[in-house]
Amino acid sequence: MVNTLHLSDSSISQLIPVPALNDNYIWMVCKGQHAVVIDPGVAAPVQAILDQHSLTLDAILLTHHHGDHVGGVTALQQRNGGVVYGPATETLPVCDIRVTEGDTVSLPNVGLHLQVIDIPGHTAGHVAYHGTLDGNPPLVFCGDTLFAAGCGRLFEGTPEQMTASLAKLAALPLDTLICCAHEYTLANLRWAMQVEPDNTALQKQWLSASQLRANHQPTLPTTLTTELATNPFLRTTAAPVVAAATAYAARPLDSSVAVFASLREWKNNFK
Ligand code: ZN
Ligand code: FE
Repeated sequence: MVNTLHLSDSSISQLIPVPALNDNYIWMVCKGQHAVVIDPGVAAPVQAILDQHSLTLDAILLTHHHGDHVGGVTALQQRNGGVVYGPATETLPVCDIRVTEGDTVSLPNVGLHLQVIDIPGHTAGHVAYHGTLDGNPPLVFCGDTLFAAGCGRLFEGTPEQMTASLAKLAALPLDTLICCAHEYTLANLRWAMQVEPDNTALQKQWLSASQLRANHQPTLPTTLTTELATNPFLRTTAAPVVAAATAYAARPLDSSVAVFASLREWKNNFK
């Protein structure tokens, strides 16, 4: 996995976060002369890479309907073709194949073999695509549901739904690469260190993420192992997180959903 394209070896699949808009990443998977793009909020930076390397766009995968994830899909498909996959129940500018939990998306030209899971909460029909990319650890494209040290806001879902969706992601293999759609890591870590000031894994993450950002490098993908050790939203049963969420709520919290809801409110109000 590299951040710049080296397509001279057509047998290697590459995973690339393309920075876009303020803080989005549009993930691209390329192999030989083929490419797949996930959540193209804008077309231009993707088109530039396709043109520069004369790549065929095989497919566009969408996780949810928000503009910063679908804004470039129509222009990209009109110019390059490519089959658009998207969540079954969301309104999208264009979608050829509607997917829902249990569906598979196989894109052998780039070495991607994915399964769909429903992860409602940020939006009502949000999906993730998880599976394998030849020569790499397992991976998941999770849109705006799970971020490094954070999670998506609940625009269309309940704490119950988001807790269940995050549990599905947390059940993936530990070495799974988490391909989040935003560079929110430093701001999220700053808040997470308020929740768990004594978590040494968090302090280590802060140092490495700070270094990466100072060098204008992405902090992503993160891994499930890292998130389980540092992300408060995946640690709703860890004693220090329960204690902090309870103190913030100023009342007893009787479930991990209640802990999650307190954490989400805390993060929403954190400056
Ligand atoms: Zn979103
Ligand atoms: Fe987004």
